[in-house]
Order: sequence, then structure tokens, then C-alpha cells
Amino acid sequence: MTNDELFDRARRVIPGGVNSPVRAFRAVGGTPRFIVRGDGPYLFDAEGKRYIDYIGSWGPMILGHRHPAVLAAVHAAIDDGLSFGAPTERETLLVEAILEHVPSMEQVRLVSSGTEAAMSALRLARGATGRNVIVKFEGCYHGHADALLVKAGSGLATFGHPTSAGVPESVVQHTLVLEYNNVAALEEAFARHGESIACAMVEPIAGNMNFVRASVPFMQRLRELCSANGALLVFDEVMTGFRVALGGAQALCARSIPGFAPDLSVFGKVIGGGMPMAAFGGKRALMELLAPLGPVYQAGTLSGNPIATACGLATLREIARPGYFDALAARTRALVAGLIEAAQRAGVTMVGDSEGGMFGFFFATELPQNYGDVMATDKERFNRFFHAMLGRGVYLAPALYEAGFVSSAHREDDIAATLAAAHESLSG
Ligand code: PMP
Repeated sequence: MTNDELFDRARRVIPGGVNSPVRAFRAVGGTPRFIVRGDGPYLFDAEGKRYIDYIGSWGPMILGHRHPAVLAAVHAAIDDGLSFGAPTERETLLVEAILEHVPSMEQVRLVSSGTEAAMSALRLARGATGRNVIVKFEGCYHGHADALLVKAGSGLATFGHPTSAGVPESVVQHTLVLEYNNVAALEEAFARHGESIACAMVEPIAGNMNFVRASVPFMQRLRELCSANGALLVFDEVMTGFRVALGGAQALCARSIPGFAPDLSVFGKVIGGGMPMAAFGGKRALMELLAPLGPVYQAGTLSGNPIATACGLATLREIARPGYFDALAARTRALVAGLIEAAQRAGVTMVGDSEGGMFGFFFATELPQNYGDVMATDKERFNRFFHAMLGRGVYLAPALYEAGFVSSAHREDDIAATLAAAHESLSG
């Protein structure tokens, strides 16, 4: 069947034909590709067309598709059974592997999705502080828990409004939405509401408004204000964790801000290597407030699933090899520099940025600092570029507000082919 036929059939029985909205290509138009197989840096669709994949399942596939060590670990795990609902040693091994690289945490709880992890971290922060107010930043996404589906109100430090039908105002009345990288908004929010703030949750490099770094002064002030007001700083590293560096974005923050550490961290994507797996963690005293030890309830039938832990462990083992991130970062930088150069040669203005294996590019003259800046970049040109690249066998994220991902399976000739396609696409 063709992609069109598959999409028509899917749309009859699945809302919008997809099980997660961005897959539907609504932002860019056209028919989503139905994928039958991945291999290394490539995806193959139902019509047999090959694509160089810069989505990587939205982040998890840092080793590329069908990495032999990962497949071997998963195959071996499957032979022992799929799920037990009882503890297994591999859960401890995976948590130990995570802790080895993230010194801000002493304990971790495993869950099955980033949404679940962020929602649980939020409940823990509220339970630990006995406070209700949470701070989040416009353009950051933390999964679809009710309290986090909020857009900014009209003022600088006002409470937000639901971004989804079905979320009562009363559920988001405790969520303050601030502008990313805006220190004045932080100051005002903490001055007004500091004693009620349970936590501030932030993507340290925002990957849900393409790719926007938190500035060092912003992050430093956020840390200071949380500490001074008894609020917890929660890092959502679902995307950045084990992706921008082995120790996540917090390792990069600690390089620029001595002694820097978040209080709670949320992980997903890479730690599961493509299987449903996510986690949240922090210092022992905080984490032991969770059931069964403490009063904050949290649970999951498939949490710490034996196949997912095997997949995550094998993935972390590969990316912890010496030099892995240096090579991945160099390849990703070469891609972004090449895209900008291809644009320049075609007389098009583009800016871009990357860290580790995560990148973003914009049709704009300056790198955006917040959601408003991202939305002001040239969307029409992005959409045309997306389709021109897709036609040439390069699979970029189908929306300008998504980050891109390079895997260690992408070779130099894949980058070269991508840049040749970009030059053609932008010249046309
Ligand atoms: N936090 C961030 C930063 C994310 O990027 C995502 C998903 N893209 C989530 C949370 C939610 O994760 P999941 O889709 O696994 O629920």
C-alpha cells in the first residue's frame, strides 16, 4: 500500500491517523510517511523510499536504528519473558548506570514515559514543599499532564490558561507561565509568589521550540531564586539527557556555573534506547518521600519493564565509550555549519545551533531566545524546505518548533548527501 492509502485507512480508526499529533504533518501539510523499517541512520517507508533520519524517534535513537549490541540485548531479554511486575536486577543496573553520570541524583524511579516522569516529579515537588504553585516557561513542553498544559497569561508573572480542552481552569490556577530567558519575569514571579512556589520546571535547552538554549545568567538566577525561596528546581532532561552530553544539560550548566545542580531531574528517550522508559530522580531524602516509604503516591504496572531496561542499558553502555560524544557533537556541528553555508550560497538567511547530538536551525537573522522569537521566524520557508528535503530523501522534523537529532550511525557521506539536498532545496 502507498503512504496515502495507509494514511486513509489509519484515519478511519485512529484519530487523525496517528497516535501522537505531530506525526500527522499538520504543521507542514502533506501525507506522513508510514515507516516499515529503520537501519542505522535510515528509515524506509511503505513505498520503499529511503530517508536519512534526523528525528530518531524524537530523540531516543542516538545509536541509530537496529544497533547490533542493542538488538542482541533486547533479543536476550525477550527470551526470559516480557514483564513480571516484580523487581529485577536490571532495574538496579540501569539506575546505577544513570546515576554514574548524573551526580545531582542519588536515587531514581523508573517509569514508562516522559509525561509520567514529569507529572510524578511535579507531584513529588509539591508533596515535599507542601506548596502548590509551579513555574514553567512558555515554549517548554513537559508532557501532557493537566497542570503542565498551560499557556502564558497576559502579564509578566500571571497564572496561565489551559492549552487543551478538558483541562479545568482550576487545575492550572497554580501554574505560572513565564517567558524563557527573561530574568525580569523570574524576579517578578518570585517576588510576588516566592513563598507559594513548589518548583520551577525547565528544559535547560528547550527542544520543544526547536532549539533554544537557556542563557547562563537566566539559569544562574533561576537556581538562586529557587534556593532563596525554598522552591525546587526541576530539570526536564527528557530530550537533553544523555543526548547533549553524557551527564545531560546539567553537566554543561555545572561547567559554566560552579556548584550548579538541579534538585530533581526528569529523563526519558535515550535512557530507553527506543523502548518505553523514563525516569525521575534527585537526592535520597527527597526521593524517599515516594511510596512505599513516604506519602507521595506513584506507581506503574510496566515501570522498569525488563525489555526496556535491557534496551536502555545496552544503549547507555555504547554512549559511555570514550570519545563517543565528541564524535557525535563534531558530526552534528558539521551538519549545522553545512546547512548554514548551503543557505548562504543560495542567498538565504539561516541560523543554527547544536549541542551533542541535538540541533536546530531557523530561517532568521538571529538565534531565537524565547517562544515569541521562534514563532517570528519564517515558517513558510521552513515548510517549503521540509518538503523539498523530504522529496530528496531527508527526513527532518515536520514542524519548525521541533529540535533535530543526529545519531552516531550518521556517517560523513550521510551529512554530505544531506547538505547537497539542502543546497538544491534552497536554490530551487
Ligand atoms: N519533556 C520533554 C522535554 C519532552 O521533549 C517530552 C516529549 N517530547 C516529554 C517531556 C514527554 O515525553 P513522552 O512523550 O515520553 O511522554
